[in-house]
Amino acid sequence: MSLVQITKVVPRVYLFLWQAAPFLATAAILLLTATALIPAGIILATKFIIDGVVLATGSDGAWSVVVWPAVLLCALWVTQAIVQSVNNPVQLIFGERTYTYARRRLIEKAASLDLAFYDAPKFHDKLRHANDQLWEISSTAMNCLDLLRSIISLVAMASLLAVLDPLAIVILLAAGMPRVFMHGRLAKREFAFESEHVRNMRMIDYIARLLTSRDSAKEVRTLALKDLLVARFVGTRETQMRAHAKMLSRFFRMESSLNVLSVAGIAGIWGYAIVEAIREHLTIGELAMVFQAAQQGQHQITTLIQAGGAVYRNALFVTHFFDLLDLDPLSVDAALHPSRAEPLPMHELRKGLELRSVSFKYPGSDAWALRNVSLELAAGSSVAVVGENGSGKTTLVKLLARLYDPTEGVILVDGADLRDYELADVRREVAVVFQDFFRYDFTARDNVGFGQVAKAGNARLVEEAARKAGAHDFLARLPNGYDTVLGKTLGDGVDLSGGEWQQVAIGRAFMSDAAVLILDEPTAALDAFREQRLYEEFANLSVDRTTVFVAHRLSTVRMADVIVVLEAGCVIECGSHDDLVAENGKYAAMFNAQAARYR
Ligand code: ADP
Repeated sequence: MSLVQITKVVPRVYLFLWQAAPFLATAAILLLTATALIPAGIILATKFIIDGVVLATGSDGAWSVVVWPAVLLCALWVTQAIVQSVNNPVQLIFGERTYTYARRRLIEKAASLDLAFYDAPKFHDKLRHANDQLWEISSTAMNCLDLLRSIISLVAMASLLAVLDPLAIVILLAAGMPRVFMHGRLAKREFAFESEHVRNMRMIDYIARLLTSRDSAKEVRTLALKDLLVARFVGTRETQMRAHAKMLSRFFRMESSLNVLSVAGIAGIWGYAIVEAIREHLTIGELAMVFQAAQQGQHQITTLIQAGGAVYRNALFVTHFFDLLDLDPLSVDAALHPSRAEPLPMHELRKGLELRSVSFKYPGSDAWALRNVSLELAAGSSVAVVGENGSGKTTLVKLLARLYDPTEGVILVDGADLRDYELADVRREVAVVFQDFFRYDFTARDNVGFGQVAKAGNARLVEEAARKAGAHDFLARLPNGYDTVLGKTLGDGVDLSGGEWQQVAIGRAFMSDAAVLILDEPTAALDAFREQRLYEEFANLSVDRTTVFVAHRLSTVRMADVIVVLEAGCVIECGSHDDLVAENGKYAAMFNAQAARYR
């Protein structure tokens, strides 16, 4: 990363900090200016005291020249003590605020991106990078402040050194500059190293998660994966740590010789000052001032190097964070492009849905998941989708819910392209319960209520929805009823069985007033009898809605108005149960095979 790029990032960091906490940012700058200037003031006051003392020892009654510098010195000490005690909490609170603000911006951005981003490994790299760098953004803030402070302080010390000779400033800087450049290079290497190893880091985290998460705990034990995974963890980490240590050791060998150079710089200034004092070109007070200013100046160069190096390194890291915030939502294949500047509002369905020659490929995949699918789903009808695993059922559901747009062809809703509608309206009017629906580690009330966020707080509606899904009885029996936290991740929650979770998820669908309800086989863990009852309930409740359900057990789909049979992404049969049985094709064969099994 070049200096030019850094000069672009750093102002943006400042702007970001300002947006995060304007009041705290102002307070931090004021405190920093005070801490930067007070030490120079103390050195100057000391000079006047020493010169005053020298004067006073030579003549009677000249003590008064010492009094004012002494008062000034005391005042500076007190101010310094106060500033220091206020500075720490301000920095801590500022850091926390910045972190929270950065995190909020990140999660808002990530959640606003289309599902297609989550199919792209590059996006995961970016997200991980940005997530890792969240603390960096607040430490960058602190480092930027430190950098500013050390620059102000260095300027103050340099003006004190000018009393000896402006050449002293040149010596001080010349002795310190090689270290500045070396640390700049180190920061650059560190960044390159991090970028090279981001995939390894993802792998390490993934393995650590596998070994510690509840979801994988069962398989890790039954398959006895522990030793193998720990070995992979250690192996990946070892390689990375060795490479890092090698890189660092080269730099630190170089640093020790450069430190000697900066000590030589101070020695030179001190020697020059001593000679000038002996020649009576400097007073004793000025000699003491030059000694302190040279040492403080060198100390400020070290702070500048550390803060500057950190700013450099963080500026590089923080770029990833800003890259993510700037990510163009349309920059991924299969992003949902708005088709018109003013989208149509979506109201209740009048005619229905139609798929016209719809084909779909997942981003990054060459295979067609759906090919040339044409279907009509009349408003108010119930449609069942059946087919073997991988035949495209879930993909069809995802397209109907507009999680993706068709690669070819069009989906029409009441005659208008689905892409023409306001996306928020589509989300409201199409409710889906996926096969791999999510289990929220929140209360039972949330788990059902999330089906319609606007009404999630309405206890009566939530209970009604749970009742329809057959979940009310077991939810009401939980220790805190609907206020019981479900799942085990967040502490003392109560876990449900797979079937119970499914009923809760279906409760979410019943919460919704959506015009189109889709169940993508979320009933696999229910027994046949319960599944049948659920679908009947679902059908009763959905008389005036369009329902689509994917089901495995064909006995369940009999009552659907239309049954669509998918094979390898194509519709091979379509019609009512009786039509399809009469047709004696794939559906009839599947139905007879299943019926025989039940008999
Ligand atoms: P079904 O629901 O009938 O089991 P899917 O619709 O899930 O089938 O899958 C259809 C095809 O699309 C399969 O070949 C599957 O491997 C592929 N597929 C599904 N999801 C993705 C994805 N996110 N990325 C790439 N290919 C996918």
